[in-house]
Amino acid sequence: MTEPLYRDDAYLAECTATVAAVNDRGGVVLDRTVFYPTGGGQPGDSGLLRCADGREVSIATAVKGDEDDGGPDVIVHVPSDGTEAPAAGESVVAQIDWARRHRHMRVHTCLHLLSAALPYPVTGGQVGDGRGRLDFDIPEATLDKDEIAAELNRLVSGDHPVGTQWITDEELAAQPELVRTMSVKPPSGAGRVRLVRIAELDLQPCGGTHVARTGEIGQVAVTRIEKKGRQNRRVAIELIG
Ligand SMILES: [Zn+2]
Repeated sequence: MTEPLYRDDAYLAECTATVAAVNDRGGVVLDRTVFYPTGGGQPGDSGLLRCADGREVSIATAVKGDEDDGGPDVIVHVPSDGTEAPAAGESVVAQIDWARRHRHMRVHTCLHLLSAALPYPVTGGQVGDGRGRLDFDIPEATLDKDEIAAELNRLVSGDHPVGTQWITDEELAAQPELVRTMSVKPPSGAGRVRLVRIAELDLQPCGGTHVARTGEIGQVAVTRIEKKGRQNRRVAIELIG
């Protein structure tokens, strides 16, 4: 497996690593990485691998491995078109596009605040570069963009700490109310699940990357509220700070 350094420290922008394998599609498997792989509605990181001889391999994205790679605990770094992968056994410095990742972290954490501001079941979500959205199961369409934005910015300005804790699969099974997002299976499998807590506002299983305090999100706008199906409302947000 690939040691996911971003999981314990989302602020690591680079690390040294060894190329464990290169798959038949040219994807680079590292023994450890700071690259977040696409999943849970958050895009994979882009960046580069710097080889010992100084050559830089541009990485377009990172994804979880398929069965041939050794399963989802393996992280595959996908080189940009035409970039030759380093060889197995090579030492590299793995470096993410930090500015883009940090926007992902701000948007992702803001979506937690959005789910706290709107206490309805979440049916889907997507983190983008500077924007994001959640889909809610809401029978009555009584949402107001300006009211939601005001509440989000109040929660941002509260500068609440964002932390993580681990519980066992059994503990999660005993508290099904913790799972807010019905369409995304919580990250589990090794017998434990990571919970993300934002002060007293939000507590849910999540494997993504978050900022350390809500103030770091900066000011946000609610850009759209769309009707998606009879009961579904899609709420889109954008960073403006
Ligand atoms: Zn999260």
